[in-house]
Amino acid sequence: MFIAYETFRERADAVREQIAAACHRAGRDPGGVQLLAVTKTHPPAAAEYAARYGLPAVGENRVQEGVEKRAQCTAAIRWELIGHLQSNKARLAAAHFDRVQSVDSVKLLALLDRAAGEQDRRLALLLQINAGHDPNKFGAEPADAPRLLETALTLPHLQIDGLMAIAPLSDDPGVAQRTFASLRELRDRLAIQFGVPLPELSMGMTGDLALAVAEGSTLVRVGTALFGPRN
Ligand SMILES: *Cc1c(COP(=O)(O)O)cnc(C)c1O
Repeated sequence: MFIAYETFRERADAVREQIAAACHRAGRDPGGVQLLAVTKTHPPAAAEYAARYGLPAVGENRVQEGVEKRAQCTAAIRWELIGHLQSNKARLAAAHFDRVQSVDSVKLLALLDRAAGEQDRRLALLLQINAGHDPNKFGAEPADAPRLLETALTLPHLQIDGLMAIAPLSDDPGVAQRTFASLRELRDRLAIQFGVPLPELSMGMTGDLALAVAEGSTLVRVGTALFGPRN
């Protein structure tokens, strides 16, 4: 049995309060932080709840699961891919997601640009950066980010909204804090170097969203705090 809408609404209210409190401490406007509901492993009702609550978008980490769920949903909501993308799924992802947050190679950039071109659209994306230097995580090395962005800016069917990172798992909150700060600093440097705004900083999940907001996150990706644990 999936959770009731009332349960979801209470949890979403609590997450928004947590975001607002973190914004208040950091002197930020809560309107500058979007809550992305991560619906992976949950039924299509999860996306319907998010839409009913008024959230603008949901996140899925597997292409196939996202495509199938979206097809079963009548909710007017945007779908974002937040999980690792394999080359052979790039075309499918470009066709079915409104934005891809997990682009971490020149090869993927080229494939997504070609697919978006064939579909006669412009695809929004974020560059995923392994800002925590975590050997277990996907994402481009920070040192490769300029080269990725330089390539991305030459591709006509892509729109680069900003950067995304996942903090390494650690008992030390300093690890996540430093990861988020370094993603923001990288964004600031790239924006100056290339003269593009890169407004989006997708960082923070259930366990570390307050830290991420303190470091400038504009989008927190939250699953567990909204829908409960995944099996
Ligand atoms: C699953 C997932 C999340 C959400 O994690 P929670 O801890 O459940 O909030 C966020 N980002 C990515 C990339 C994920 O895969």
